[in-house]
Amino acid sequence: MQVYINGKFFPTSKAGISVYDHGFLYGDGVFEGIRIYNNNIFMLDEHINRLYDSAKAIRLKIPLAKTEIKAAVKQTHKINGLKDGYIRLIVTRGIGDLGIDTRTCPKPSVIVIINKIVLYPEKFYKNGMEIITASTQRTPVSALNPQIKSMNYLNNILAKIEAENAGVNEALMLNTSGNVVECSGDNIFIYRNDTLITPPTFIGALDGVTRAIVKKIAKQEGLKVEELIFSRHEVYTSDECFLTGTAAEIIPIIKLDGREIGNGKPGKITKLLINKFRKLTGSQ
Ligand code: PMP
Repeated sequence: MQVYINGKFFPTSKAGISVYDHGFLYGDGVFEGIRIYNNNIFMLDEHINRLYDSAKAIRLKIPLAKTEIKAAVKQTHKINGLKDGYIRLIVTRGIGDLGIDTRTCPKPSVIVIINKIVLYPEKFYKNGMEIITASTQRTPVSALNPQIKSMNYLNNILAKIEAENAGVNEALMLNTSGNVVECSGDNIFIYRNDTLITPPTFIGALDGVTRAIVKKIAKQEGLKVEELIFSRHEVYTSDECFLTGTAAEIIPIIKLDGREIGNGKPGKITKLLINKFRKLTGSQ
């Protein structure tokens, strides 16, 4: 694979960044994960817009215009010729001194990596997946707003480790008020009282691209969709639950903390949405 770094291409084995890059030293940077379905870069504009918003929030000036960064992503895709895969688009603060002062970093680094995607096994999409609640809370909005898709993923990684320790693949994260926010790498939806519900981003969830698509499809299907604050109790007692993300797509959740959700099988609304989503991506 060829990796794009600041306008040049390098084979993966030679694609390196400086140890003085603040992306490496401090996680000072922003990124996007984007899918390629059947040679089509899915929702590229939405990802680029979120990247620029994340960069704006950390006062990082991306050295390329949106059209230029789009061209770089498309060129990386073309050079590597991957029909289905995953793109990691990264902008770091760039090379600076051994201190956090951003003024020592004159030139942000732009990196585009492309590779195959490892999805959850198909059995989870068919039969549903079990998750646990992490004791690690989501970073408060007032500390590091999770709407910024930054290179600081330790908060999520700590939750993911809890999932790994519990022998499951994902962990639900609550905010400091105990409300449901999202999972370590996915947004969450519940279906109860004939309504599809997801937490509002202002309580600390990422404004997921897949989340937005799912809301749109659900509305087109005539479902009632709401953004509401809820606790784990509402998840335990909901009829259906699923997670959304660029890599995970839509994954049914059938158990949280050992409590069966609904009848313990992927629900009919979840199945309908998976079906419609797969039609949209062309993977079905
Ligand atoms: N929340 C978190 C913490 C994420 O990292 C992601 C992306 N993996 C999502 C939600 C889902 O966002 P998207 O649908 O844009 O991939």
